[in-house]
Formats: sequence, C-alpha cells, structure tokens
Amino acid sequence: MPTEIECSKCGGKMSKGFVFDRGHLEYKTQQAWVEGEPEETFWSGVKTSGREGYRVEAYRCDNCNSLEFYTRDRVDI
Ligand SMILES: [Zn+2]
Repeated sequence: MPTEIECSKCGGKMSKGFVFDRGHLEYKTQQAWVEGEPEETFWSGVKTSGREGYRVEAYRCDNCNSLEFYTRDRVDI
C-alpha cells in the first residue's frame, strides 16, 4: 500500500493518523477492526476472543476534511 494516499472524493493529499479510544483509567488505545458481528458479553463488553483483528489507520484529507480508514497490521485483540 502506498504511503501517500489521495482522497477518493476530491483528490487532495491525505494525512495519516489514527482514531483512539479512552479506555479504563483514561488509558489511551488505538482502535482495531474486528471480524464478524459484535457480540455483547456481561463481564467484558464486546466479545473479541478468537477473532481476527487489524489496527485501524485513519487518513484525513487536508482539502475537504473527509476521513478514510485502512487496515494494514494485524493486532492481538
Ligand atoms: Zn478530499
């Protein structure tokens, strides 16, 4: 995947970033894409064990401000 990404809406230059979550005790984490349908559990929220996960990269267009998400690196979830 190229590191320079063009906006699919306006062709502008996109800046790489990420979307973060503020988790337990204000611990900041990066969001991940998880395969399948979300399944709620009583103790730990949404079930992720045994699922495939990828780190979510977010690209923001410098011109029209739109966001595009990509996944590249597998992550343990
Ligand atoms: Zn754009």
